Amino acid sequence: MERTFAIIKPDAVERNLSEEILERIESQGFKIVAMKRTLLSKAQAEGFYDVHKERPFFPSMTSTMSSGPVVLLVLEKENAIADWRKLMGATNPADAEAGTIRKDFAENIERNSVHGSDATETAAFEMSYFFSQTEIH
Ligand code: ATP
Ligand code: MG
Repeated sequence: MERTFAIIKPDAVERNLSEEILERIESQGFKIVAMKRTLLSKAQAEGFYDVHKERPFFPSMTSTMSSGPVVLLVLEKENAIADWRKLMGATNPADAEAGTIRKDFAENIERNSVHGSDATETAAFEMSYFFSQTEIH
């Protein structure tokens, strides 16, 4: 069993898509082992996306991530990291495969509805950034 970290981003929460996205997650065999609805501060979003701090899109992207409520999730499944990335689809919805969450819901490359960890180490960092061990069941 593997765990990954996911976010339903502000653009999706704002458009009342949380339930539909959670339904897709559960129907694909992921267990939701932690879940929190919250509003990120700009500083929290900056710390979370620290690897991107030199990128030109960093200021705008972290503002967007803190512009409204999000749903933070820890998902469990065999191959959870790769399988969740696959279900999300490509970063730019224009490149995302049919049937992926980003293809169906994302508005553009920045407002792309969901986040997913990209490796074991980033998954561990991202989970611990928002959840304590006692919040994951
Ligand atoms: P995430 O980390 O959110 O799951 P990702 O791993 O598919 O997305 P990253 O390269 O890590 O993509 O970029 C992080 C986020 O930054 C993207 O999800 C998107 O919201 C935003 N982003 C990435 N590239 C661009 C860009 N060229 N213009 C605007 N925003 C971007
Ligand atoms: Mg990423």
